[in-house]
Amino acid sequence: MAYKSDIQIAREAQKKPIQEIGAKLGIGSDDLLPYGHDKAKVSQSFINGVQGNQTGKLILVTAINPTPAGEGKTTTTVGLGDGLNRIGKKAAVCIREASLGPNFGMKGGAAGGGYAQIVPMEDMNLHFTGDFHAITSAHSLLSAMIDNHIYWGNELEIDVRRVVWRRVVDMNDRALRQITASLGGVANGFPREAGFDITVASEVMAILCLAKDLQDLQQRLGDMIVAYRRDRTPVFCRDIKADGAMTVLLKDAMQPNLVQTLENNPAFVHGGPFANIAHGCNSVIATSTALKIADYVVTEAGFGADLGAEKFLNIKCRKAGLAPDCVVLVATVRAMKMNGGVAKADLGAENVEAVNQGCPNLGRHISNLKSFGVPVVVAINHFVTDTEAEVQAVKDYVATQGSEAIVSQHWEHGSKGSEALATRVAEIADSGVSAFAPLYPDEMPLADKVQTICKRIYHADEALMDQKIRDQLKLWEEQGYGHLPVCMAKTQYSFSTDPTLRGAPTGHSVPVREVRLSAGAGFIVVVCGEIMTMPGLPRVPSAENIHLNEDGQIEGLF
Ligand code: ADP
Ligand code: MG
Repeated sequence: MAYKSDIQIAREAQKKPIQEIGAKLGIGSDDLLPYGHDKAKVSQSFINGVQGNQTGKLILVTAINPTPAGEGKTTTTVGLGDGLNRIGKKAAVCIREASLGPNFGMKGGAAGGGYAQIVPMEDMNLHFTGDFHAITSAHSLLSAMIDNHIYWGNELEIDVRRVVWRRVVDMNDRALRQITASLGGVANGFPREAGFDITVASEVMAILCLAKDLQDLQQRLGDMIVAYRRDRTPVFCRDIKADGAMTVLLKDAMQPNLVQTLENNPAFVHGGPFANIAHGCNSVIATSTALKIADYVVTEAGFGADLGAEKFLNIKCRKAGLAPDCVVLVATVRAMKMNGGVAKADLGAENVEAVNQGCPNLGRHISNLKSFGVPVVVAINHFVTDTEAEVQAVKDYVATQGSEAIVSQHWEHGSKGSEALATRVAEIADSGVSAFAPLYPDEMPLADKVQTICKRIYHADEALMDQKIRDQLKLWEEQGYGHLPVCMAKTQYSFSTDPTLRGAPTGHSVPVREVRLSAGAGFIVVVCGEIMTMPGLPRVPSAENIHLNEDGQIEGLF
């Protein structure tokens, strides 16, 4: 049987006008700022007006360590949202917006897949409502103002060798990673080394996703460190006087975007910070607003649970005062087989033994999540090639870990396929058993926070930090940044820093290469291994296959 591509299915969607979707959550048309017929931003006054409402149940979707076999977190998030609506619950989905760079590279779309998708998927994967363009513009304004300040005499005494504010563009463009700026003589300023990151790696993106409101946004933008002087004292965005104009550029981008699933249920798609040097989840404002107007909110954290869920819980929940009522851990039979040593090309053949061998990766994520005090359900995101014996093997294993696994067939059947998962998740969320607490207190010294995550989440012997890094952390503590959480940047493919080490490794240590202060976003980035903030395109980028057909429809967006 041939299956339709994601874009074919999305194109056949029977979309409802966005006002009808808003009405399901009590958002009147006056409070919807439509972008076309099927997308709208929610007004700030509406958001202000619902703050006194009761808070709904928060459900986090996360996953095992990703493998090339694909896990389907977004697909499961959307499928679960539709499943909850199907069983009569008032549920909304909250996910991230897509970055153009990976779309034209190789990642695939960001709107889910099969019969669990968000539409309009073409818009969502392209310009959408312009939020990322606004972020690029705000970021670029600050870049321009820094070099302009230096040009006009550098009153702040910025050391041009220590400008840490880079430039951004929403494209995978490795040619821009390291550049020399201000070439061309006296009229063009003072030449200096610079470079570009992808827009989603901008601190402005992280801030937009953590800020409570526009005031908080401006405060945080002002707090960003853009450069250092020769005496190593920091120069802030506020010193450059860019924070006000940046906030103006971001005013609309701060409002959450409302769209719909294939089954016409509400979905908020807002923000999209990198999951390595930032926290990797949709905006606080979207999640918090959704919780005030829906009874159940299903949201996704990027990467595997060791990174994505850890940051969702230790950074986003801590900062925004959120607490999940249930965590859904997505696993696939295919990924278990890959963790058990099967090559991607051999995934088609039944192999219960390999499933069993791969399961410890899943087991470790279950116990890690439980250590946050949250109940965990495993969702087996069903692929049509999975055999009954393989699925049973995962279920049996999960039962030995004191949890339960439920097969979900939303990719193939939409909400009909996720009813069982939705029913159980709602039951758990309603039961009130969740007793969420972050892994470490604010007051813990920064180095100990890093050790805590490495030992308790990665199950490493220790984090290795040389004197220079320890001194830097101490200095930040003295400067008043000691209460910040840490944002780990390491490979998503393993609990260790070696991407090839699958399963549940022990006996490893975590070398910390570098630490960075994101003073506006409000976290310390701890870089363990190579971290890419400007991806490149593969030899054959997917852009080569993206085009308009004779009917003017987009082809090739997966
Ligand atoms: P993640 O959020 O974990 O990165 P996505 O939900 O975006 O993953 O899914 C990645 C890709 O895998 C999508 O193209 C989707 O269509 C596909 N996919 C997800 N679940 C299934 C499934 N059960 N069967 C087949 N393909 C799937
Ligand atoms: Mg995803």
